[in-house]
Amino acid sequence: MEIRNLTCISCPMGCPITVEMEGNEIISVTGNTCKRGEVYARKEVTNPTRIVTSTVKVKNGTADMVSVKTKEDIPKGKIFDCVKALKDVEVSAPVHIGDVIVSDAAGTGVDIVATKNVDRSSYLAH
Ligand code: SF4
Repeated sequence: MEIRNLTCISCPMGCPITVEMEGNEIISVTGNTCKRGEVYARKEVTNPTRIVTSTVKVKNGTADMVSVKTKEDIPKGKIFDCVKALKDVEVSAPVHIGDVIVSDAAGTGVDIVATKNVDRSSYLAH
């Protein structure tokens, strides 16, 4: 019997959850206050995934950086590769929310998109 202790990240309450496992089989999930916690815990012990957020450089924009995130959850083991893939990325303004910054990030099949707008700098518009 293996015991996994987790903290639910599905809402700010952060309930401590205990999952009892026998091999790959989940025997029980306790400590969650709501159903979302159980869903999170079951996924976390079988197929842990995360949304990755970061920032990339912007050229000729009203801001030097723009925030980005993976469009969907990616496997936890790919987070480092995804962050690495963003390290040297530089985009040119304007950038719009939802613009694809990196497609198929680190071979996950998931795109990284902008989560903010950055206009072109007015100094460059004239
Ligand atoms: S179990 Fe429910 S109440 Fe507790 S942190 Fe998770 S989502 Fe929030």
